[in-house]
Amino acid sequence: MENSIFEELCKVLGEQKITKNEPMSNHTTFKIGGKADFFARVTTICELQETINIAKKYNLPITVIGNGSNILVRDNGIRGIVIQIGIENYNISSDIVTVGAGVKLSALAQKLLKEGITGFEFASGIPGTIGGAVKMNAGAYGKEMCNIVENTKYLDTTNNEIKELNNNEQEFEYRNSIFSKHKEYIILETVLKLQKGKQEEIKEKMQEYMDKRKQTQPIQYPNAGSTFKRGNGYITAKLIDESGLKGYSFGGAQVSSLHAGFIINKGNATAEDVLQLIKHIQNTVYEKFNINIDLEIEVIGE
Ligand SMILES: Cc1cc2nc3c(=O)[nH]c(=O)nc-3n(C[C@H](O)[C@H](O)[C@H](O)COP(=O)(O)OP(=O)(O)OC[C@H]3O[C@@H](n4cnc5c(N)ncnc54)[C@H](O)[C@@H]3O)c2cc1C
Repeated sequence: MENSIFEELCKVLGEQKITKNEPMSNHTTFKIGGKADFFARVTTICELQETINIAKKYNLPITVIGNGSNILVRDNGIRGIVIQIGIENYNISSDIVTVGAGVKLSALAQKLLKEGITGFEFASGIPGTIGGAVKMNAGAYGKEMCNIVENTKYLDTTNNEIKELNNNEQEFEYRNSIFSKHKEYIILETVLKLQKGKQEEIKEKMQEYMDKRKQTQPIQYPNAGSTFKRGNGYITAKLIDESGLKGYSFGGAQVSSLHAGFIINKGNATAEDVLQLIKHIQNTVYEKFNINIDLEIEVIGE
């Protein structure tokens, strides 16, 4: 059975885009995660639809990822097919930008800089794809994707139909959207409304944001960004810091001593190390401040 699934996937995607027993640590910025039964990188909508059809035929669960920068994959990996969205089309027409879900935010920011289009600088240092960023309503420096996203095209995997939602219909909230509630929707492409700007000013802004990240975030270690969500009326990283947890570690996972909101992989961290550390942080903050802090990163797999 496993062989016929693999053969069918190979026929649709070509051998280079499909692997068996693929370590997810190769596909997450945390560099953590057990093996996926099948790992498929799809680069067209047609490939995606055919991969979904195979998953349905064999009753296999599917898990969609972009750049793996907001996920923690458990140590026993992921059953079924992990689909990495690699749809990378883009079109810039004046200040309207149509972009495929697999395009990395940093790559798009460079293209927009070249074209002298402003409004995307805030996202230039977020290490995700357009699909992951729309789903998470990713944001930084006072702006979020919901401020610039117009329509988003998605595949409804229940019937393999391509549909579209306007900004309001995407139900954006803090680090949340309709795509968080509907796992069966896979983002294919989004339209951004930006503005014409001056190249020099765009470059300066991007540099300023990048410098800030370098100073405040432990980017030399594998991590998945802020572990916890911002709270209502408090800064979560500050609570963790004031709980004396900076530098606290469990196995190979450590609370960054540069930014208490980040957990870093010091080398050989397992997902279990990170999960134990998360539990300890949540309990300690609760004991000290009587506040429950919620995860921003998504924990997936077995
Ligand atoms: C160093 C660092 C700094 C970061 N800074 C920020 C920051 O400033 N602001 C911020 O908001 N985030 C930040 N993040 C977190 C992360 O980069 C964002 O959440 C990003 O948008 C995730 O995109 P991704 O492609 O990596 O998604 P993944 O991590 O691959 O997936 C995240 C979620 O999106 C879903 N998904 C991915 N692609 C699709 C698709 N095409 N259709 C449907 N669902 C999809 C996945 O199923 C999963 O549920 C940071 C992370 C790191 C490591």
